[in-house]
Amino acid sequence: MSDFSVVGGGVGGLVVARRLAASGATVTLFEASDHLGGTVARHEVGGIGLDAGAESFAVRGGGVSALLGELGMQEDIVAPAPGPAWLQPVTGTAVPLPATALLGIPSDPLADDVVRVVGLAAAEQAALLDARPVDDVPATLGALVRGRMGDDMVDLLVAPVVHGVHSQHPDELAVARAHPGLADAVVSAGSLGGAVARLRAAAPPGAAVAGIRGGINRLVPALADDFVRRGGDLRLGTRIDHLGALGALGGTVIVAAPGVAAPAAPGRRIDLVTLVVEQDELDAAPRGTGLLVAAGAPVGARALTHATAKWAWLREAAAGRHVVRLSYDETPADPVAAAVADAEALLGVELPIVVDAAHVFWMRPAAASVPSEVVAVGETVAGSGLAGIVAHAERTAADLLAR
Ligand SMILES: Cc1cc2nc3c(=O)[nH]c(=O)nc-3n(C[C@H](O)[C@H](O)[C@H](O)COP(=O)(O)OP(=O)(O)OC[C@H]3O[C@@H](n4cnc5c(N)ncnc54)[C@H](O)[C@@H]3O)c2cc1C
Repeated sequence: MSDFSVVGGGVGGLVVARRLAASGATVTLFEASDHLGGTVARHEVGGIGLDAGAESFAVRGGGVSALLGELGMQEDIVAPAPGPAWLQPVTGTAVPLPATALLGIPSDPLADDVVRVVGLAAAEQAALLDARPVDDVPATLGALVRGRMGDDMVDLLVAPVVHGVHSQHPDELAVARAHPGLADAVVSAGSLGGAVARLRAAAPPGAAVAGIRGGINRLVPALADDFVRRGGDLRLGTRIDHLGALGALGGTVIVAAPGVAAPAAPGRRIDLVTLVVEQDELDAAPRGTGLLVAAGAPVGARALTHATAKWAWLREAAAGRHVVRLSYDETPADPVAAAVADAEALLGVELPIVVDAAHVFWMRPAAASVPSEVVAVGETVAGSGLAGIVAHAERTAADLLAR
């Protein structure tokens, strides 16, 4: 019998399993499918190896970089091309996102690049609202920004950015999850714009995200190989369906799969379409590394990543072709045709030569309240995103080992 059993071989499960095995404990990892990694996956489109799910990680906290260092991949950490992301507003052509904003919340609502997105009337109203004293900080980011900068600031600017980062609407996102220091900063600065200015000034210079040369998916075999090298026992194709089955597993059980420890609320489906195209006009990266799309804009896609503009290693691998990835909250009837039309509209260029295309979809788990006696890691308890999941899984392993 193992000291620990881990259910689920996504990044959350792999990180906790590897750390426990590294301490000398015996660990068995059960994965339902025939492969590891979950939402961190690889596919080939037009003969190019690409990420099929996550494609970057947030550098905050330094946990993912430290892990990559331990796995001998420090030299493979790469920064994306610099420059602002772009926004496709409800009407008109795409614009660069305001330069001095946090999750789309401007430090100065009257800055030219903010006025260009929300209009002068909304910008002036935001400045007036945010000049009032701070009484309290509401629970959700949407309520906070609506109260201090008005509805237009949320709907036209903050919602598309927050959706792109957290896959959630700001009305559903807790202020603490959006940014752990934001509530305190609003109180101490006495305004939302002032809080954003302070937090931006305190943030380390450089990009907020990083990637891995060759793709984020390289993390999965690196973690798995290290786990096995340290004596870990890997069981693919083994589904553990409910809490009752957990008792039959060995030692302390750690749940790293949605729906096992608590009934899963219905998740959300995200469709991704990746296009490999030939179009020299894209060499100039007309929309930087990509765009976020405001709800109500006349395209179905919610975001577009110009992957060959974002990652130098990919530009090299694509040998003159371009890789563009679009995400959808609602599955289009003909995903590839919709993606080509949306990419043309968003990038402002025609795409007559589509070399290859791929359509994948992912189900994202809803947050779950896990019974207190169950040890859980991964997205359902740590939120979406590798930085938070890795940090939480490392903390969980340390707590278990300290017991
Ligand atoms: C399209 C997309 C793009 C993303 N992009 C980014 C990004 O760029 N940067 C970023 O930081 N984050 C990104 N994310 C989020 C990030 O990928 C996830 O938050 C993270 O990978 C989730 O890891 P996890 O281990 O919690 O869960 P999962 O990856 O879902 O892994 C769970 C694993 O458990 C297995 N499993 C399920 N049920 C059982 C069972 N009953 N028994 C045994 N095994 C089971 C599954 O097969 C799976 O392997 C993205 C997500 C999506 C969908």
